Amino acid sequence: MTAPFERLALVGLGLIGSSIAHGARRHGLAREIVGTARTAETRETARRLGLVDRCEETAEDTVRGADLVILCVPVGAMDAVGQAIGPHLAEGAILSDVGSVKSSVIADLSPHLPAHVQLVPSHPIAGTEESGPESGFAELFEGRWLILTPPAGVSEAAVARLTGFWETLGSDVARMTAEHHDQVLAITSHLPHLIAYTIVGTAVDLGDDIKAEVIKYSASGFRDFTRIAASDPVMWRDVFLKNRTAVLSIIQRFNEDLTALQRAIRRGEGATLEEHFAKTRSIRRGVVDARQDVPPTPPTKKAPPAA
Ligand code: NAP
Repeated sequence: MTAPFERLALVGLGLIGSSIAHGARRHGLAREIVGTARTAETRETARRLGLVDRCEETAEDTVRGADLVILCVPVGAMDAVGQAIGPHLAEGAILSDVGSVKSSVIADLSPHLPAHVQLVPSHPIAGTEESGPESGFAELFEGRWLILTPPAGVSEAAVARLTGFWETLGSDVARMTAEHHDQVLAITSHLPHLIAYTIVGTAVDLGDDIKAEVIKYSASGFRDFTRIAASDPVMWRDVFLKNRTAVLSIIQRFNEDLTALQRAIRRGEGATLEEHFAKTRSIRRGVVDARQDVPPTPPTKKAPPAA
């Protein structure tokens, strides 16, 4: 059987890049898989693990001759990587990425791309709090959404080929504009991470006696926030800076709603609180019904605590 792609180039071999490498190899998605990472240490690990068929020193050498290039680096690095690879992209290549913010990626990459390249950004709604080349696993994308945000004018044939790629990795593929994606993810992902970082940060600043108790009794809710707040600091720094407008707008709404609940508690308005909590409980049921409640975990790794 012929592989759908001749050469897959992965720039960035962390959790997402290495998971794509494992999945693409398992499913025969490319005749050759080439990769690179920023540091010699990660490239060495990638070679030792046999993540890719060829591990190059530079992004430029990695993308040469590839018909599919996927950038798996933090969103703050897209501009520099785009500038480096732009002149070396093959005629008719599909360029994609897996960044958690989409408008900024399109804005950062577009100026560097030759007209013959098809830019089809993507975002797998899949992940763990782990990072690095040893954290990836082929099943990461199975049963998870993958959002494509092709800009206007991109070839439909390229979108269809990339859709097929992700479907083979097990994803359900959806399509929307980059702006819409960034608003939706601001509430479903970015704000929850900010809240988790805040709560865990508040606990860090408590006195030592209280802090010890917080860890001891963390199963009462706190531990679920610690899992989210253990996510990669560089990745999340970039997400907040690159999706600034949508995130600030949702924080404004959140603050208003928090203030309303604060007022209800102060005034002893039990009915208001109960009504609000009943509404949110039904959202949880919807999430469970949509099979979005448990993150995928590598078969060999310990499952994170259940929510
Ligand atoms: P990761 O495990 O930390 O891997 C990041 C990779 O990018 C590494 O290979 C790293 O190389 C390279 N890199 C870091 N900074 C760079 C720079 N300034 N220039 C060039 N390369 C650089 O991160 P990840 O979780 O795979 O995330 C990759 C992308 O996927 C991000 O854009 C993130 O927003 C998106 N994403 C993540 C998740 C998630 O849950 N983690 C889910 C969906 C989408 P070295 O190892 O050599 O430093």
